Amino acid sequence: LEKVPSDIEIAVAQTPKPVADIAYEIGVQADEVESYGKYKAKIELSVLERLSHRQDGKYIVVAGITPTPLGEGKSTTTIGLAQALGAHLGKVAIACVRQPSQGPTFGVKGGAAGGGYAQVIPMTEFNLHLTGDIHAVTAANNLLAAAIDARMFHEYTQKDKALYDRLVPKKKGVRTFARPMLARLKKLGIQKTNPDDLTEEEASKFARLDIDPATITWNRVLDVNDRYLRKITVGQAATEKGFSRDTAFDIAVASEVMAVLALSKDLADMRARLGRMVIGSSKAGDPITAEDIGCAGAMAVLMKDAIKPTLMQTLEGTPVFVHAGPFANIAHGNSSIIADRIALKLAGIEKGDNPERNGYVITEAGFGADIGMEKFCNIKTRVSGLNPNAVVLVATVRALKMHGGGPAVTPGKVLDQVYSTENLELLEKGCANLGKHIENAKKFGLKVVVAVNQFSNDTPAELELVQKYALQAGADYAVPANHWAKGGEGAKDLAEAVIQACEDPSEGFKFLYDLNQPLVKKIEIIAKEMYGADGIKLSAEAEAEVERYEKQGYGGLPICMAKTALSLSDDPSKKGVPTGFTLPITNVRLSAGASFVYPLVGDMSTMPGLTTRPGYYDVDLNPETGEIEGLF
Ligand code: ADP
Repeated sequence: LEKVPSDIEIAVAQTPKPVADIAYEIGVQADEVESYGKYKAKIELSVLERLSHRQDGKYIVVAGITPTPLGEGKSTTTIGLAQALGAHLGKVAIACVRQPSQGPTFGVKGGAAGGGYAQVIPMTEFNLHLTGDIHAVTAANNLLAAAIDARMFHEYTQKDKALYDRLVPKKKGVRTFARPMLARLKKLGIQKTNPDDLTEEEASKFARLDIDPATITWNRVLDVNDRYLRKITVGQAATEKGFSRDTAFDIAVASEVMAVLALSKDLADMRARLGRMVIGSSKAGDPITAEDIGCAGAMAVLMKDAIKPTLMQTLEGTPVFVHAGPFANIAHGNSSIIADRIALKLAGIEKGDNPERNGYVITEAGFGADIGMEKFCNIKTRVSGLNPNAVVLVATVRALKMHGGGPAVTPGKVLDQVYSTENLELLEKGCANLGKHIENAKKFGLKVVVAVNQFSNDTPAELELVQKYALQAGADYAVPANHWAKGGEGAKDLAEAVIQACEDPSEGFKFLYDLNQPLVKKIEIIAKEMYGADGIKLSAEAEAEVERYEKQGYGGLPICMAKTALSLSDDPSKKGVPTGFTLPITNVRLSAGASFVYPLVGDMSTMPGLTTRPGYYDVDLNPETGEIEGLF
């Protein structure tokens, strides 16, 4: 096989089309395009209204088997499939992917633009900063964090009357409530709009949130793998003496604000969700929201551009929406509902159009299907109401050999030779992992297309074995795909299979659990049905948290498991299809604005760390050309 150059070499060798041309080609009007430089543009949400009468395009979700730490090519396949459909089979095909976090980009994984000849370009802009959405999320999140501590500080140091007078000051002799304050009054059942009419008792209730510091779940965030921020103490300066408390940083892409961005349907929905976010409880046990703190409006303002998806392109000039970037293991792992909705309308057809012209939207669900696809189905589609026509399950010979008992795949280390020579025995043993993911996808009533993402060392016999196994295990289609080496041309068979899967009659999409069930029951269903656990075990803390959330009226939310991606179980070292384990739930958190409850499985951390040899060592600026080198 010919040698494929590095991702960055391929990416910079291609001259992208002006983004205005990409927009024009998919029917976005000039006044709906807000360019950020030549090759990126935010798209106005007004497109949705203009095209609301259209029938949606076909909706494909790309998920994968349990990966090695190197990733098995879901992003690459998402892009390769879009290139095949759009540039080789004459279809309108829009890929929807997440914006990469700086954490993995400079950590072990590198960027997330795809790879080889299936990439989003310009890949340097895609992987770094993009149009600033993650920064906006960070800014909004940290404004609220600062507001919480400042509010407690002022409540500690001031009496009720003084607090009220400062919150609702007289300006030119008149006091008025700011808009978020009206929401708080409503919540308290106070039907007055003139601040001077409140009784002393009402004014105290209004002014004093009385946050119980021990219940605060709102952390600060940063888009860096910074292990030393996993636990911190704030309030150590002399000016805050006596008010210090332990808290933590999470990585920005694990934040609730990021989840809100990804799950909002429109601007009004985002504003409302930001207001509903719960940061902790009062000493009386009532939930305290961002609206109560008075900062949800300002957060929405910080996020007003982030809510618009960014249009980019593949190496073959087909459209890609990049929007939101929640991690899949510690968040819900799917790109935004807004991008998918816009893409489905742009790819869709008018009444009376030839159905053959109906286009395709290919959206990606992070990590293994036990995580990303499960959350796509149970969380994202529940909010969006958009049901997928098919799932593409990405498998690699490499990962399946690892599941069959092959040596650990460690980033930065040379792979063991079993991964570069034919070994049908190991591969066959490992196929059980693929089988379990196929079975899982079928539980949602999905059409399953297995894509064997081909690596240069894979032998024909190995590829055939995986294909055969997948079909026997219940996949509707199974095809090798070589887009990494050949671009869209290499994924034509996969694209044909996807087109066919969307045409085949389907048994209909279904959820895995009913929202009305108790939280613990819903967690148990996911653990047993998706991961193959015998059951779950909640820590005393987790039990108390579940009880609190149910009492506060959040029992009807879906579940967003924070679990390792490297095993179907909670133990990353258990490969294949682990059995005979009980899933430990250490903590349960609430994301009331994103609208899910978020159990932490085992010792899952919401702030990754850096290894001894992280990716940033390879990244540099070429001092002569000013070009970025070493991103992958
Ligand atoms: P995922 O989305 O599943 O995490 P990615 O698509 O980001 O995985 O791919 C992970 C890495 O593997 C990327 O650096 C990509 O270039 C590389 N890769 C993907 N597919 C192949 C392939 N078929 N051959 C060689 N490298 C590949």
